[in-house]
Amino acid sequence: MAYDLILRQGRVIDPSQKLDEVVDIGFSAGKVSRIGPGLKADAGTTVRDVSGYIITPGLIDLHTHVYWGGTSLGVDAEEFCRKSGVTTAVDTGSAGPGNFAGFRKHVIEPSAVRILAYLHVSFAGIFAYSRRVMVGESEEIRLLAPLDAVEVANANRDVIVGIKVRVGAIASGRSGTVPLDIALQVADEVGMPLMAHIDQPPPSYEEVLERLRPGDVLTHAFRPFPNVPVDPQGKVKEAVLNARARGVRFDIGHGKGSFAFKTARGMLANGFYPDTISSDVHALCVNGPAFDQVTTLSKFLCMGMPLIDVIAATTVNAAVALKRPELGSLKPGSVGDATILSIQQGEFDYVDVVGEHLCGDCKIVSEGVVIAGRWWHPKS
Ligand SMILES: [Zn+2]
Repeated sequence: MAYDLILRQGRVIDPSQKLDEVVDIGFSAGKVSRIGPGLKADAGTTVRDVSGYIITPGLIDLHTHVYWGGTSLGVDAEEFCRKSGVTTAVDTGSAGPGNFAGFRKHVIEPSAVRILAYLHVSFAGIFAYSRRVMVGESEEIRLLAPLDAVEVANANRDVIVGIKVRVGAIASGRSGTVPLDIALQVADEVGMPLMAHIDQPPPSYEEVLERLRPGDVLTHAFRPFPNVPVDPQGKVKEAVLNARARGVRFDIGHGKGSFAFKTARGMLANGFYPDTISSDVHALCVNGPAFDQVTTLSKFLCMGMPLIDVIAATTVNAAVALKRPELGSLKPGSVGDATILSIQQGEFDYVDVVGEHLCGDCKIVSEGVVIAGRWWHPKS
């Protein structure tokens, strides 16, 4: 067996195989080809000694905004992924059917990192999200474009993984659940999952959840009051437990306004972990409070979520949400993506979207990225 790359002697943590072991990983032809001790290099093999580091499947950030230049909220995907150890950035509704072609041609196709997308049901996606101009794209019903969304989703099934809609007073004004109901029709028609954003009511958390189908994703699930999943006595709401029982997936989507330590503490105290942890990185939160994916993951680790579950929430669980089993795993035959992490000990200051600070005792740091079986970052 000839390998293009061997990562030597890292602590491999891969929740998809319940693996936590110091071992080598060999990559060839863009894929993981073997995990085991003492893999043999030949003249063409790049060998990296990663002893002392944690190696995980390439991290998936299930909620990002990377339509850089095409939308005001977009950040540069490659720059973000270098900092974050992310190999798959999932853009959630930056583009709608009216401007998806540009996203595909100018951003997704030239990108060294994998970009997958939820297509917004609103015609031009999230088109007016900036410091000075803020217009909810789901507020104006005339912008909702179910016919166009079906056409574009069907024509781009290699990169479009689902349908996105944003509902809440900020994103949809007084339209309530109408944009959500239209987006669900599109998702049904194309046979894809839906990702629903929620902000302030209307609609209520419960009204959104009761509409979601098994496999659909609620993002901003641990947002601050109002529209929270726990009651004031610290009990997880019945509607939340029912939704999880029937297969609705709970995603973090930190962002600028959508993650509160208080909510997270209430949920974690009940043993209710998010299915996926994502940054919702965009232009207005990339310099805080979200920063990047490893910072978002660190917050959960500091709040007591076990490391194996934190890693699952950004690898295999995200792959399940995307219905892309070849991602988020280091099983032989999976895509050759891996992330090299370290965990620093010390005192670290974290902040949520309402300004609460948390003094954490650890910090997850991205030390390197492998994409499609090649060492990608850092260069030397
Ligand atoms: Zn978002």
